[in-house]
Amino acid sequence: MISCLILGSGPAGYTAALYAARAGLAPVVCEGLQPGGQLTTTTEIENFPGYPDGIDANQMMADLRRQAERFGAEIRPRIAVKCDLAQAPYTVTFDDGTAEQCHTLIIATGASAKYLGLPDEEKYKGAGVSACATCDGFFYRRRRVAVVGGGDTACEEATYLAGLAEKVFMIVRKPYLRASEAMKQRVADNPKIEILFETNTLGLYGDGVVEGAHLVHRRGEADEREYDLPIDGFFLAIGHHPNSELFTPWVETDEQGYIVTDGARPTTRVPGVFAAGDVADPLYRQAITAAAAGCRAALEAERYLVEKGLK
Ligand code: NDP
Repeated sequence: MISCLILGSGPAGYTAALYAARAGLAPVVCEGLQPGGQLTTTTEIENFPGYPDGIDANQMMADLRRQAERFGAEIRPRIAVKCDLAQAPYTVTFDDGTAEQCHTLIIATGASAKYLGLPDEEKYKGAGVSACATCDGFFYRRRRVAVVGGGDTACEEATYLAGLAEKVFMIVRKPYLRASEAMKQRVADNPKIEILFETNTLGLYGDGVVEGAHLVHRRGEADEREYDLPIDGFFLAIGHHPNSELFTPWVETDEQGYIVTDGARPTTRVPGVFAAGDVADPLYRQAITAAAAGCRAALEAERYLVEKGLK
């Protein structure tokens, strides 16, 4: 029987593990699909307090992991595929066929990249379509690429790709960027990046691999114009959806699928089951807010175990 089972290994999962371990809960962390979480797909973190010169994202996640392990957290390379939260103790089944029972569960499964929903995205996945510039950007050195989206992620991905590619287009559906001023400035200062405002993607074309995108400028307007943009890579950066599907029969979720918690407290409607990080945060979605939520979840788990006489 596991006292505190943590699903997910982003800032929320590892911070929960650190606090739970220091509280003597002997937590077990199951890393999930993306060990280290979404940050491992970015480069440098400049806005996590304590790193005045910034820090490499992978290094920060490795440090968080090491810190949790130092206090006894056990970290397993497993993906949860099924869970039963009908009654305590709760059961979670993993991709290797094993199942574990736990007194408390901390859901820190994060969020995954969204796609536009075009059939061509499936057709060219791994052949020019990607949702991770830092994972796949290397393949586009001195090539032409496009990034879809106008938020901070899109600006970050475009800036990263501009360091490798010959030319980066940003395909932005609105006449402005939604990103923060700092990110907007970074994009504006980069001569390799060209923003295509008020532009939507209709499809992709190419013989086996992406060779271009069918675009439409000012869709639905009198001066609507369709045209083809030759590119080698098509990167999605239009946001994320929470990885909450496994838990929806039991915990409450909002219309976007984010797990609903009790205000600032990470409690769900299932006693002893807590949610922390991007899976439960439609508003902030920052590494620091996820870490804080992980801390709160571990403190609540400890409180729950004490109240139930399980610690
Ligand atoms: P956002 O939700 O902020 O932005 C999504 C972008 O994609 C918007 O420009 C949106 O357009 C566009 N979009 C969404 N759906 C479609 C669609 N179907 N077709 C075309 N365009 C679409 O997501 P991000 O991932 O950029 O950021 C999420 C959060 O993470 C934010 O709070 C952000 O500040 C934060 N973040 C912070 C970073 C940092 O501080 N370094 C780095 C990365 C993210 P529209 O504006 O028209 O809705």
